[in-house]
Parts: sequence; C-alpha cells; structure tokens
Amino acid sequence: MPNNKKERARRETRRRFEQWARNPECQSNVASAVHNVKMGTAARRENPDAPQDGQSVFALERGNAFEASLINNGALVLLDALRGAEVISKTSSDFVDHRTTSNGGTLANLDAATQSGHAFLTALGEGQKFNGAVSSLTVRIPRGVMLPEATLIIDVLSVQMINDAPVIAVGEIKTYADQGGHTHRNDLATARAQMGLYVHALEITLDHLGLSDAVSVARHGFLILTHPGSNQPSVRSGEDLRYQLERARRGFELMEESAILLEGAYGDGDDTDDIGLLDLVLSAPTHFTDSCIAFCERADACYKKALSAGDGIVLGDDVSRFLNGISLQRAEAIMSNQQPKTPAEADLLARLQSQLPTLP
Ligand code: SF4
Repeated sequence: MPNNKKERARRETRRRFEQWARNPECQSNVASAVHNVKMGTAARRENPDAPQDGQSVFALERGNAFEASLINNGALVLLDALRGAEVISKTSSDFVDHRTTSNGGTLANLDAATQSGHAFLTALGEGQKFNGAVSSLTVRIPRGVMLPEATLIIDVLSVQMINDAPVIAVGEIKTYADQGGHTHRNDLATARAQMGLYVHALEITLDHLGLSDAVSVARHGFLILTHPGSNQPSVRSGEDLRYQLERARRGFELMEESAILLEGAYGDGDDTDDIGLLDLVLSAPTHFTDSCIAFCERADACYKKALSAGDGIVLGDDVSRFLNGISLQRAEAIMSNQQPKTPAEADLLARLQSQLPTLP
C-alpha cells in the first residue's frame, strides 16, 4: 500500500469509531478499534482461509467518480445543488478544495490537509468572509488517550455568514439513490451517525484552536445523494444531528475509558509491534451478538465458538436474553423433562411452561 494511503488508513478515525460503536461490549473489537488493528488481519491469523476483506472496487470507483463530478471545475455542480436545496444562499459561490493528491486534489498529504483545515477555521474565526463550501475539510482531534492520532475528513462543509458571524454545517456524500421516504433506513442512520461525529470533531477542534465563540457549528447537516438512475446530486438538507452528536460525545468518552482499561489490562501497545497488537486483539474476551454478522470478519470464528459453548446467542439476541445465561444444552435437557438444577433454570422452565402449555 502506498505510504499516503497507509497513513490515511491509520489515521482515519471515523471507521474505527463506527466499528467500536457496533459492538462496544466485545473487548477484542474495542482493542481492534482503539489500536487500529484490522479485524480482517486477526480473522486470517485465526483462520487462514477466512475471506479477504475490502470494499467493492466498483463501489469505491463510483464514489470517487461521483465526488469528482461534484467538485471538479470549481465545484459548479456542488454549489448549484447546495443553493438549490437552500443549504447555502442563492448568492454563495465561494469554494475551496482541501483534497489531497491521493484523492484527486492538490494538497500533498494528510498533514498538509490538516494544516489547511485548521488555517481555514482560524481565518474564519478571525473575520474572513466566506459564503460557500469546502471539500474534504480535514481536522485533527487534539485528544491523546483514545487514539494516538484522530483525524477526520469531512466530505463537504458549508459556510454561511449569518449576522457577520460564520456558521458551518457538515455534509456527507453518498452514492446511493435518494428515494425520499423509501431511502434505506440503515443507510441514512449510518450517514447521520458519521455527520454527528463530524460535528463533535469540529467542536473539539474549534475549542482547541480557541475559536468556539467565533465560529458556530450547526446542529443540522445535509446529505448529498444521487437521483435514482443517474449521477446527478440530490441534496437532503436540514438533517437533525442532535441525537447523533450526543452519541458521538458519549462514544468518544466510552472509547477513552475502554482504552484506559485495555492499557491497564494489556499495556498501551506503544512498545509492541503489530504482531503484539494482533495477539492483543485475538486474546481479548469476545462478546458475540447478532450485529457481529453484519460487520466483523471474525464473525464466523466467534459464531462457531459460541455454538460449541452452547451459547443461545447463536439463535439470536432474543433467544439469548430469554435463556438468561443458560446453555442451549441445559435448555434442551429441561425441555426434555430433566429437573432444573438452579433457580435460574427453574425460572426458565416456568417461563417456557407459560409460553408452551404442552411442556411437562
Ligand atoms: S465477531 Fe467476535 S471479535 Fe468480532 S465483534 Fe463479534 S464477538 Fe467481537
């Protein structure tokens, strides 16, 4: 992997935050997210035949092409779409591109992009007028415990001067089609979660730069989707991000707590090499849930482990809750007329009898 891509992957916080948020009870998942150890690598160490990870090349290329079509030629298409959706005023036409060369822009690398991002926010805070949009605004979160480097790249930032003070709002570009009320709920939820994270990151950054009073971050964002069947943008404005902002705030705190706990249990990983961190991920306790199947590359191994332990989770979260810690083998034995051995088993039998009157 070229160095700049490797660097970007290492520093990209968003993916790690979302990975953590999908199963924060699994210490292996927490260790993987906090220390940025790819779960796919751990999965293949565990089972060399585990499938390769990675996004579809076609999906990535389509995403890049869509973003470029918005931004190239002075972002005429982007600005027009934002004006049409009233994200920015009819007279707003300012644009600046903070993409790096590896992403089709002109900035040399992620450090240059971060410098430009912070300089842009500082200039706004110091009174520079700007009405329009910024692509790929990059910020580095000045917090050290959770992640050694926490850098976020915001797809699009809108900037409006309101009563002479700058108000910025985050936007997310997605290639899926805007189908009005029929747009897939999960797709929208993921995009809103990402935007909530951006709002939180911007607030932390502005605070660190001493600009909290000079630049306001809007509590709503906008999504740039495609029109069904075409690559033309369709902008959904006014996306309420208050809940997602709280989720991001709380999530960051919990990740920090997890990092501290991990450090206490396993060391901070600083003096271990990648193999050491891989061992850390593989040896940390797991907590398999329904959601693992949709996102984690170790799901197959963890499912088999749960199955051999007779854990009811293999039949889903609902069954696991109903069994309340009792193994599938014991549940089966109780249903086959064996006497309960513990109060928890007696309770399970009573609940089973109330739902299955034919049970002895
Ligand atoms: S599949 Fe396993 S390692 Fe991955 S999050 Fe679930 S329990 Fe953790």
